[in-house]
Amino acid sequence: MNSGKNFSITFEKNPSPLSESQRKSILQDPGFGKSFTDHMLLIEYNTEQGWHNARIKAYGPISLDPAVCVFHYGQEIFEGLKAYKAKDGRILLFRPEANAQRFVNSAKRMAMTPLPEDLFIHAVHEFVKVEKDWLPDQSVGTLYLRPFMIASTPYLGVKPSPNYLFMLIASPAGSYFSKGAKPVTVWISEFYTRAASGGTGEAKCGGNYAASLVAQQEATKNNCDQLVFLDAAEHKWIEEMGGMNIFFVFDDGSLMTPPLTGTILPGVTRNSILTLAKAKGLTVREERYAASQWIKDIQSGKIREVFACGTAAVVSPIGFVKDKNGEYTIHNGQPGPITQDIQKTLVDIQYGNAPDPYNWVQEVK
Ligand SMILES: *Cc1c(COP(=O)(O)O)cnc(C)c1O
Repeated sequence: MNSGKNFSITFEKNPSPLSESQRKSILQDPGFGKSFTDHMLLIEYNTEQGWHNARIKAYGPISLDPAVCVFHYGQEIFEGLKAYKAKDGRILLFRPEANAQRFVNSAKRMAMTPLPEDLFIHAVHEFVKVEKDWLPDQSVGTLYLRPFMIASTPYLGVKPSPNYLFMLIASPAGSYFSKGAKPVTVWISEFYTRAASGGTGEAKCGGNYAASLVAQQEATKNNCDQLVFLDAAEHKWIEEMGGMNIFFVFDDGSLMTPPLTGTILPGVTRNSILTLAKAKGLTVREERYAASQWIKDIQSGKIREVFACGTAAVVSPIGFVKDKNGEYTIHNGQPGPITQDIQKTLVDIQYGNAPDPYNWVQEVK
């Protein structure tokens, strides 16, 4: 089977794209996940032909049989990555091969046929080339890319689907950090958990998010922006903040993040920050951390800064923590210096404003 760069993707131009003035007005203040570009990419899979019928066409509704597996048993996975516009106009991707690899791992966990990594990367490059006019300037944000895959066989049996549909859509996104990231307030959820050992916590599947929404509602009810999940076995160890990984900065300048034990999503941002922090000479530990100890360490001053990280928001400082006993403030509710320094280092590489010693950045051309 041919894949990767030799895989041909047909292009059928949208006959009625948004006007230039409409597009420019969106690109000035895109928000997040509200507007979509003029096209979408589709690739189909079946057992006879393998991956086939790759095409880029006008963005719009797709037609599916109501019996397709994804509607009933949730066989679905997704990714999130961004295209960045450099100051010299070049268009850059950040570690797309890491997303391609994770997409394969997610597919395997959900008993789906993995999309070959080189085909994922080729599809992303070809699609971004088509939508290059949809990149916001770097003072505004990025083009957020959402690859996803669904089980598309019309069949109600509980078994892996023999047919899949891979799609890629794109949405211009404003950045949070342009205004200086505002620290969030987090709720420690004592009842709800995100992932159990042997479950799907490591896979980027929609079902994990569906299961987290009621916990997010609990956080909102307690006047918090986000929630922190504890482990499912003991309801004791900190795992993630909503859909982001979490880092703690201690008074000795060291950084700590929970280890990848199978219940935590292995973030590309998390991995990149571990590398960058080590290169800065910081001590970095991947260790379990009990929520009760976290509160004690905030009260004693041992905790200096806490932040969450992920592709969408990059780095999100945590200023306040709430649980059923009270509220605790970190770094006076302000973003800390190590948080800001790590964010700047990462963002500068992503936008091509700083050298890229790890070859993380790929140019779309
Ligand atoms: C996507 C995701 C992250 C962050 O991953 P990045 O690759 O850094 O964007 C963290 N936690 C969860 C649950 C996620 O789905």
